[in-house]
Amino acid sequence: MEMWIKESQINDAAMTYMVKETLVRRKTEYQDLAIVDTYALGRMLLLDGIVQTTEKDEYVYHEMITHIALNTHPNPKKVLVVGGGDGGAIREILKHPSVEKAVLCEIDGAVIEECKKFLPQISCALEDPRCEIFIGDGIKYVHEHKNEFDIIIVDSTDPFGAAEGLFGGSFYKEISECLTEDGIFVAQTETPFYLPEVVKKVFDDANAVFPVTKLFMAAIPTYPSGYWSFTIGSKKHDPENANLENSLELNTKYYTKKLHKASFVLPKFVEDLLK
Ligand code: SAM
Repeated sequence: MEMWIKESQINDAAMTYMVKETLVRRKTEYQDLAIVDTYALGRMLLLDGIVQTTEKDEYVYHEMITHIALNTHPNPKKVLVVGGGDGGAIREILKHPSVEKAVLCEIDGAVIEECKKFLPQISCALEDPRCEIFIGDGIKYVHEHKNEFDIIIVDSTDPFGAAEGLFGGSFYKEISECLTEDGIFVAQTETPFYLPEVVKKVFDDANAVFPVTKLFMAAIPTYPSGYWSFTIGSKKHDPENANLENSLELNTKYYTKKLHKASFVLPKFVEDLLK
């Protein structure tokens, strides 16, 4: 018998994937968690029925949410990830030898627990001694830490439920205070095809707080529309004009120094959206 899962990507459009096996399904304190093995994309993490990451395309998202900011900052030593319980962002951050400490602040300990069990390719760096795991709300954590991190990465679920407060002006002000004087913030900020109003609002909110605010894009097959935005806010360094000559040749599959610059070149409809 064929088994399929359907992910509603917007109200009236959905993606379906043929499932080989369900590895875990449980209600956590915060969400409905499932990890399934699919024929097309390998193992897949779903939270409340929404695809978070898959073995086949996770590298695009995790490389792009980390290396643009880390290669822009001249000497990133302390990095905070808010959300990101699958560990993919931490794996990429720890490829940078300047990083002394990477804190993962994830609200749902069950995500970390199950990803360690079933997604080792993604979660493999969570045991690294430079990684510190804190189970709790990122909003509270950021509020309680001032002037501490060189980079803050908001690797969150979509802007509903526990993640709602991770999008918006008051949180970006707190992020700015949690960053050091030349700190950089980056967040996943949805798709301009289906959610232009979210992309625009987040960009404007970040722009009101950070002297340099830019949007960059990546092609991520499993996210709605396949075309995903990230917003980066920086106190000093401009990510689009970063000097990458001496930056490391990283072991990556999507990110390159050329792509770093190119990802800031936006199609006209996105440029117009941000005006
Ligand atoms: N790459 C993913 C995506 O865009 O679909 C995000 C993956 S990661 C698994 C998202 C994590 O954010 C979830 O594990 C969720 O529990 C966590 N999260 C949501 N709200 C949070 C909050 N307020 N503080 C910390 N973590 C939060």
